[in-house]
Amino acid sequence: MSPIEPRNLSNKFLSVQQWTQLTIANAAATLQSNLKNGISSNQASERQKHYGLNTLQEKGNKSPLRVILDQFANTLVIVLIIAAVISAVAGSLKDAIAIVAIVTLNAVLGFIQEIRAERAIAALRQLAIPKTRVRRDGIVVEISSSELVPGDIVLLEAGNLVPADGRIIESASMRIAEAMLTGESEPIEKQTETIPGKNALALGDQVNMAFMGTSVTFGRGQILVTATGMNTELGKVANLIQNVGQVITPLQHRLNRLGRILAIAAFCVVAVIFIFGLLFGHDWKLMFMTAVSMAVAVIPEGLPAVVTIALALGAQRMLHRNALIRRLPAVETLGSVSVICSDKTGTLTENRMKVSVLDLAGHRIDISEELKHRQPITIANKKTSTLINDEPSLALLLMSGSLCNDATLQIDRGRPGHYRAVGDPTEGALVIAAAHFNLLRDQLDLDFPRINEAPFDSERKRMSTMHSIVNPSAWFSTNTLNHNSKFVVFTKGAVDSLLTVCSHVLYENQVVHLDDAWRNKITATNNELARDGIRVLGIAYRLAANEESDKKLTATQLERNLIFIGLVGMLDPPRSEVKQAVATCQSAGIRPVMITGDHPVTARRIAADLNILGTGQVITGPELLGISPAQLDKLVNQVSVYARVAPEQKLRIVEALQRQGHVVAMTGDGVNDAPALRRADIGVAMGITGTDVAKEAAAMVLVDDNFATIVAAVEEGRSINDNIRRFLKFSLAGNLAKLLLVFVGPLLGMPLPLTPFQILWLNLVTDGVLGLGIGVEPSEPDVMQRKPQKSSEGILAHGLGIQIIWQGLLMGIVSIAVGWWAFSTKQPQWQTLVLTTVVLLQIFQAHASRSSQQSVFKQNPFSNKPLLGATLLLIILQAAVIYISPLHNIFATLSMSAKQVGISFLAGLVVLIVVEIFKSLINYRKIKKKSNNFLNAAIE
Ligand code: ATP
Repeated sequence: MSPIEPRNLSNKFLSVQQWTQLTIANAAATLQSNLKNGISSNQASERQKHYGLNTLQEKGNKSPLRVILDQFANTLVIVLIIAAVISAVAGSLKDAIAIVAIVTLNAVLGFIQEIRAERAIAALRQLAIPKTRVRRDGIVVEISSSELVPGDIVLLEAGNLVPADGRIIESASMRIAEAMLTGESEPIEKQTETIPGKNALALGDQVNMAFMGTSVTFGRGQILVTATGMNTELGKVANLIQNVGQVITPLQHRLNRLGRILAIAAFCVVAVIFIFGLLFGHDWKLMFMTAVSMAVAVIPEGLPAVVTIALALGAQRMLHRNALIRRLPAVETLGSVSVICSDKTGTLTENRMKVSVLDLAGHRIDISEELKHRQPITIANKKTSTLINDEPSLALLLMSGSLCNDATLQIDRGRPGHYRAVGDPTEGALVIAAAHFNLLRDQLDLDFPRINEAPFDSERKRMSTMHSIVNPSAWFSTNTLNHNSKFVVFTKGAVDSLLTVCSHVLYENQVVHLDDAWRNKITATNNELARDGIRVLGIAYRLAANEESDKKLTATQLERNLIFIGLVGMLDPPRSEVKQAVATCQSAGIRPVMITGDHPVTARRIAADLNILGTGQVITGPELLGISPAQLDKLVNQVSVYARVAPEQKLRIVEALQRQGHVVAMTGDGVNDAPALRRADIGVAMGITGTDVAKEAAAMVLVDDNFATIVAAVEEGRSINDNIRRFLKFSLAGNLAKLLLVFVGPLLGMPLPLTPFQILWLNLVTDGVLGLGIGVEPSEPDVMQRKPQKSSEGILAHGLGIQIIWQGLLMGIVSIAVGWWAFSTKQPQWQTLVLTTVVLLQIFQAHASRSSQQSVFKQNPFSNKPLLGATLLLIILQAAVIYISPLHNIFATLSMSAKQVGISFLAGLVVLIVVEIFKSLINYRKIKKKSNNFLNAAIE
């Protein structure tokens, strides 16, 4: 097949079927790629111009025009537009124009907010695109998977999402789950050989191809990219699976329900006002407009927008604190989290592993002092080299640890002569420890090339590799090693798990039978190290027969009759910030729970150091197997540490906690963690060590893998919920006040205290402008000192409903009083006075509600600049309405005297003073309760 020029590649795409029939070399030639070096950066950028980005076309994104149109597409606006038309027809053109103007102003506000929210979400989505490792210009580089082009060579390993369609060019037991494309739930083992035959193959049978969006569940391999973006198999069905439209969060659901109730209420109000008005002999046109305006007043139309914006901007703030939100509802759920289940390694601890102890069947070598001063690695010194020569089994221990390993040792570019490890920190620590003894990985690879492997999985808790012995002299002089053997297997893993596949132990360079006494001795050493919080790995080997070398051996076949060499202890101290984060959790009524794959003794020590041990009980994975769901339901309330847990068991723990009414955040990084991450209320994936599959399943990604970041995100979540509740209070109380004013005013014998247009002004502009500031209030100081809000609680829980009612009544009464006084004293500006009083009442209420406990006089007004700005803007707008005479006609206003402004101001101040009195009463009661508790404790 002749090579395809990039220029015309796009219309000469081979079908998947054709790729399956090409040999690897032909496939590479067709795509003008080099199997060893990949393509060059220049080729890549040229191809990107032709094929575009490797992304699926997004359908959910709204264009700005669509956002504008949406502002006019809600029922409320439609009602107003109809009202404008009726006004125009009924001869009141002025009213009609005014309504249209105000609706437009409202739409502009809505548009600005929604675009901000869309931008924030788009930026988050951009960050969520996974990275992928490719060969470009002969070296392996990490790029965003959106930059892939046909001809790229991609390196895949367990946990990766396949970023594009490609021909398999290497497969080390690589298995790929393709359920999303084929419906087949069992992962398929991939091969590199061509598939002959002309018959069309189903996707699931194309075992030498990998498809975009599927996930590598086991092993590793490489693919040659054959199709990207919408040309992939996923692209072809993308229309079916794309998430069209926006997600509605549970809170938005509840608010929509509240909105519907209020809409029905509004309809009743409209009918009653209209009928009453006619009975009182008012003009029908005026009554119609008043009724419509009141309907507008009752419905909190700003709510859905405020929620979306609060969530989107909240997600942006969380990102600044290293928590990347993948699903918007997570932002609000975070506020109600009551249990955080966290991995240990890397999340609670630093994951900067350093080998500190080597133990050769009872002979302990403490190397922490030796290696302390030599990070990063230079070359081995005399002392360490002698140590190795004197102790052949030490050499074997270090060598096995370095070879049975996927981390690599790379030259530190910034510092010539220095090395650093790249890859999993546990593995990196082993490569570095060996290098300290002059056993450099690159040289070892030449002497012992890898020919087979059984990758690590957290189920077996072991990893094995088979190597051919190319250079026997590299085997240090030891009579335990058979020089005639051509092959060797190395296995490393959790000590308890490793011992189950060992039959012998290397003791003083002799292979001896691994009897119970030896098992006990090794286990005791393991426990002793673990008690100091040290992470321990065991290492074993066996010589392999020649006939084993050409077969593809399974893990069970590789891992048998092993000879135990020794233990490697690694220091992985708790992260310094975690202790404080745990304390914060505890004061916030959130229980941290550790679920780790590590040894129970190590887990207990680290948990104790961090104060999460709780009752002191530690349950292990094997113990969990014997516990019934009913027993587990009881245990989850007491146990805070689970060790040697297989990822599948995390699911059981999450479900048990959820049955106990908890809202659970759960961390995870591996492929097998995905079900638990999906099941948890908030699945949290690790950004650094996490696999693509875990990230895909999670609602949130920790950019820094840090437990403290989860706590920070919870704090943000709580403050966002506070802001939404604050906005609800402001908006609903204000609406109640206006309703009361219009309803009761005429009953007291005055004409309608607010004109329809003034009601619209208050509702769409006052609320809209102030709402912008209310939604972004920073966290209250006590936000992490209260218990989490239960997810079953309604949005008006914790007294919010009552506060709305009394504050609404208070503001309504104050404004009626002002109106009645001004009307009965025959002041011509009486309506302007009422309007200004309502605006000022709302401004003061918004400021008084900034904190539920702290006095407004103790708060820094500049800590919420948007609210300050909104207040100033509103004052200017209201002054314009009062003092610019051309506006008098539209707003039915008149210029006010200083005395009148003063009265409005004092009336507005009433709400602030009453709210402040309430706050100090509550605080006084709290202090009294605390001191009573203290006295009681002292007396007892
Ligand atoms: P956590 O679950 O808190 O992240 P973990 O890293 O110990 O802790 P797993 O990754 O499930 O959890 O590992 C379980 C055990 O397997 C470890 O305690 C260790 O003994 C062993 N282990 C970890 N990484 C490797 C590896 N690369 N090769 C061999 N064994 C390993």
